Amino acid sequence: MPLTTPQTRQLYGVIAQHFPRGTIAAYDRDLRYLIIDGQAIRELGIDPESLTGQMVGSNIEDEQTRLELQEHARAVFSDEQFHFEHDIDGRHYRFDFVPVKIDQIVQYGLVVVYDMTEEIALKNDLKISLEQTKNALQVRDKFMAIAAHELKTPLTTIIGYTQLIASKIRDRLDDREQKMLQNVLIQEAKLNNMISSLLDLTRIEHGTLSLRTGPMDVVILVRDVMVDMRFNSEHHTFLEEYTRDSVIIEGDQDRLEQVFRNIIMNAIKYSPGGGPISVSVRKLQNEVTVTVTDPGIGIPRNELSRIFEEFSRGSNLSGTTNTQISGMGIGLFVSREIVHMHDGAIYAASEGLGHGSCFTVILPLRKSNDTA
Ligand code: ADP
Repeated sequence: MPLTTPQTRQLYGVIAQHFPRGTIAAYDRDLRYLIIDGQAIRELGIDPESLTGQMVGSNIEDEQTRLELQEHARAVFSDEQFHFEHDIDGRHYRFDFVPVKIDQIVQYGLVVVYDMTEEIALKNDLKISLEQTKNALQVRDKFMAIAAHELKTPLTTIIGYTQLIASKIRDRLDDREQKMLQNVLIQEAKLNNMISSLLDLTRIEHGTLSLRTGPMDVVILVRDVMVDMRFNSEHHTFLEEYTRDSVIIEGDQDRLEQVFRNIIMNAIKYSPGGGPISVSVRKLQNEVTVTVTDPGIGIPRNELSRIFEEFSRGSNLSGTTNTQISGMGIGLFVSREIVHMHDGAIYAASEGLGHGSCFTVILPLRKSNDTA
């Protein structure tokens, strides 16, 4: 479309005039502007009409820049494209030189000048913010690792001594004192669990969580965990169903115990109204599934995978009574990591708020030819 007819000149003119944050110009072989317009030159207070007929770059004071720009402008007529960036009066511009061909012959050069100052400032701000966020996260991780480590040692001593003293004086205490002592032991255990979870979290983040695996029976493990769990609540009943077979997997007994304790404790904790909690261990062809079902507060469907993320606590805790259910949002994150390290899977299911929840852990069976 030649730039000679008034209609096409008008069309190019309108496009150029409304070109945002830049300038667009068409020029001929003598590098004279045929059309030049755009918000950038208007913002500089230059009348675009006054530039028509002038040479490309004529409004640039620095000679070297002007000559370089004109060299690129000229090369367009050898059917080449150029990209060039330059600072003028404290602003950063990008110049794109493009040939405009009509019937296979380059008739005009087109230069698109784009003011990138804001874009670059924004990118720099973003880079600085990212850097600051990264540093803050590093400080948080370091603080968490040190705090958890430093708290663990004295707490272990406190727990050891409390248990020892408790065993010596328990018989001499009245009912009220016995309850107080029991409460001290429960709170110590809670604190110990919290610190262990924080330590596990930092281990996962540093890739240092490791397993000590060997052949183990999942039925025996879950049965043992349940012996303990039954004492954890007077308001719940426990229905247990185990496959008759032995279910041997290659696993880390302590770490898997931690997983099952976590999901069973959650079933108790998130069923504040009491009720039956079902635990089942089923053997399939190549895998074992452990399912824990509770009649509790339930989980919104769109959060079923999010609750496995680090520090994630569900919106099911926002109701007036449920806000009191304490936790750090780490247990499921650590559990998922441990299950994945066993090449297994863990997932949650729920019909929604108020409809209870069901957690399933799937672990691969030990292949018969590796049986110890
Ligand atoms: P915590 O219990 O310390 O918050 P978890 O990682 O164990 O941390 O659980 C994350 C979130 O998942 C909980 O805050 C809760 O919102 C939800 N959740 C876990 N188990 C259950 C359950 N059995 N019933 C309802 N919600 C649950």
